[in-house]
Amino acid sequence: LTSDPASGALIGAVEGGGTKFFAATGRLVGDGPPVIGDRIRIDTHPDPSRTIAPIAEFLADRSPDVIGIASFGPLDLETGTIRSTPKIGWSGMPIRDALLTGFSDPPPTVIDTDVNAAALAEWTWGAAQGTEVALYMTVGTGIGGGAIVGGHPIHGLGHPEMGHVLVPRHPDDDAPTVCPIHPSCLEGMVSGPALAARAGRPAEDISDTDPLWDLATHYLAHGLADLTLVLSPEVIVLGGGVMQRPGLLGRVGDRLDDSLAGYVATPRVLLPHFGQEAGLVGAFALGVAAAD
Ligand code: ADP
Ligand code: ZN
Repeated sequence: LTSDPASGALIGAVEGGGTKFFAATGRLVGDGPPVIGDRIRIDTHPDPSRTIAPIAEFLADRSPDVIGIASFGPLDLETGTIRSTPKIGWSGMPIRDALLTGFSDPPPTVIDTDVNAAALAEWTWGAAQGTEVALYMTVGTGIGGGAIVGGHPIHGLGHPEMGHVLVPRHPDDDAPTVCPIHPSCLEGMVSGPALAARAGRPAEDISDTDPLWDLATHYLAHGLADLTLVLSPEVIVLGGGVMQRPGLLGRVGDRLDDSLAGYVATPRVLLPHFGQEAGLVGAFALGVAAAD
């Protein structure tokens, strides 16, 4: 038996991404991660109601005791609303309340960014267990970061937007940024679409020996060095599709070590224990937090 308030409770979890949403229910068993029961996948539609309505129905049908929502951002965490986003149709979407429309008396619900949620999952049950400061970055269609400090996701003015930290351009790189806001930020330089724009093909089709991976390593290591100097994480977990490239994780870790040059200790750089499920498991971790 555990003293965890969510032990035995039915937890509802929603992970919202730019291309797809997942909703699931599950329960905690002992100290381990949730055992997932039902789940559905719905495409992220330009008309948000076409995505939200089936998930709201899924949740209301199962009547979970608590709900966690891990969503793409930027989010207004107080109101549970998606702020201004280039994703067509989604700016101003009150995603938390919309997902709860099927309940006359909604259960306790916590919403956070997908990356703060993934960080919480990895800290609670995965690769970053036992740390005081844990950083989770996703390198995919976008780049984002979340961090756990003292057991809680970082919230302040809002939530962190670590994918937009500015990185110095590589001297051999004059490719245009894919970020509409910044001339050279992590997301603009080294997200999957940024690599694809340089290569003229999807990032997964770039050859392992292409010099583009040196550029990618340069940008990721610089961004992680800055974040390490600010946050002092013991562990950095790197998820997202681009990190599935064999060998990239090790190269980034080595280059980070070179960048920090012994001035501060180098964090351990690891793949997510939960792999591509880190965000969904993160939604469960938020559901557990909702029970507290
Ligand atoms: P999302 O960010 O949309 O949630 P992912 O984390 O799966 O989705 O990231 C998708 C991105 O990862 C795409 O830009 C894709 O080209 C890239 N990607 C997927 N697999 C690989 C790979 N093996 N090597 C490099 N890039 C990859
Ligand atoms: Zn940017």
